[in-house]
Amino acid sequence: MDVRAQVSMMFHLDKCIGCHTCSIACKNIWTDREGTEYMWWNNVETKPGTGYPTQWEDQGKYKGGWEPKGDTIKLRATDKFRGLANIFHQPHLPTIDDYYEPWTYKYKDLFDTEAGDDQPTARPISLITGEYMDINAGPNWDDDLGGSEIYARNDPNLNEGEREVLLEIERLVFFYLPRICNHCLNPACVASCPSGALHKRGEDGIVLLDQNVCRAWRYCISACPYKKTYFNWKTGKSEKCILCFPRIESGQPPACFHSCVGRIRYLGVVLYDAEKIEEYASAPESELIQRQRDMILNPHDPEVIEAAGKSGVHFSMIEAAQKSPVYKFVKEWDMALPLHPEFRTLPMLFYIPPLLPVIGYVEKGNYRLDDEEFFTTLDKARLPMRYLASLFAAGDESRIRSVLEKMLAVRMYRRAQEVDDITPEQVKVLLERTGLTEKECEEIYRLTALPTFEDRFVLPPSHREYQTELAIDDPYTFKAEIGVGGSLNIDDRPHRGL
Ligand code: SF4
Ligand code: SF4
Repeated sequence: MDVRAQVSMMFHLDKCIGCHTCSIACKNIWTDREGTEYMWWNNVETKPGTGYPTQWEDQGKYKGGWEPKGDTIKLRATDKFRGLANIFHQPHLPTIDDYYEPWTYKYKDLFDTEAGDDQPTARPISLITGEYMDINAGPNWDDDLGGSEIYARNDPNLNEGEREVLLEIERLVFFYLPRICNHCLNPACVASCPSGALHKRGEDGIVLLDQNVCRAWRYCISACPYKKTYFNWKTGKSEKCILCFPRIESGQPPACFHSCVGRIRYLGVVLYDAEKIEEYASAPESELIQRQRDMILNPHDPEVIEAAGKSGVHFSMIEAAQKSPVYKFVKEWDMALPLHPEFRTLPMLFYIPPLLPVIGYVEKGNYRLDDEEFFTTLDKARLPMRYLASLFAAGDESRIRSVLEKMLAVRMYRRAQEVDDITPEQVKVLLERTGLTEKECEEIYRLTALPTFEDRFVLPPSHREYQTELAIDDPYTFKAEIGVGGSLNIDDRPHRGL
């Protein structure tokens, strides 16, 4: 057992109000520079919809992530060895049109235009060409338009028949999906880079891209199935979310987390067994979620604690893992799921799927929420269960249903206490069906509805004095650099800017 610590996040989608404050906080700190105008390390998209860059989930188009090969896996688009033969040709990169052409407005005209009969206007100007332009796309162009004719129709998670169902007016439905880099355990971006510019930090698993080493091959952009590495046309280097590591090292949460209005974000440490990465990333698709859960270890287990100590995990990280809200939601309660686990990068950002758009429906022109009918309401779901399963469960609808039933059970448990129209017998049936105890319902309710900042952010400040030693002699970091199946000699290990 090779126990490692990973800083992991969880987003509770029922709480996201789609305000984009997180995106703006990130933009103001990290991508408010020339060459980064079109980049949104944190973006929030409306689902169903096509997202940013458009249709990023369609790996038939972009060829990102890993695919099975025999009893292991290989990068779908390329790897550093096959890619070297084809290094100047990248057929699967998103184009600027797939993101959007960034623009500003010619505000000066509002002040300098001579007096006349018409109101002066500030016309949009391209930030790439400096010319006037017509705006026809943006990073959240389909904001709140989920289910609408254009966007739901092109969502790669829906097949043709299901898209038609969403277009019936009474089933119109949407929810928000905030996205950042998943700081994956099996990062395709790291494995694909011919220059060795990316690495996964041994001490906390944050995936970083060394600007001094990047040679602009852009393999990372093709390889990341979440399209969370970007190319800076000004510097000629790739860039990505750094999980605000300078803030984390000083005990502060990432900017997106800190600014989140809905308080949907939870951040904590999880411990995992690095020896299992290849085995679990190569598991049959139907087992991927369970394997990813299995990989996360019990931080209270004495054997795990001892192995973590031997691997150099600092005691404060082990202690943080024991109090981690992410561990509770992912492992103890089995309620938080990874986004598109079938991409096989073992993403370390988890989501609680949204319940609200699923249980609401329209009857005789009135919007209704049928709490009384308990689980049968899931059968009348406005959003096909298969849609959520395609996003968060590699197609396994039973997994989504189990999470939504737990969320409903907690809701009914609380309602029995507050409104008094649910009987103790009904609560008992709900708890038996979901396997939750009253204590767990109470804890889930508290951590969902009433968490303090300290409940949501459980991470000690870094210990730089240990990190440098760990990263220098860190076989796992090296393994992640070459990726599953890689075979570089240890002496070939590239400079990582330490
Ligand atoms: S492969 Fe994973 S770690 Fe790499 S950029 Fe994409 S989401 Fe981030
Ligand atoms: S700040 Fe929070 S609530 Fe607002 S869009 Fe971002 S994740 Fe959602």
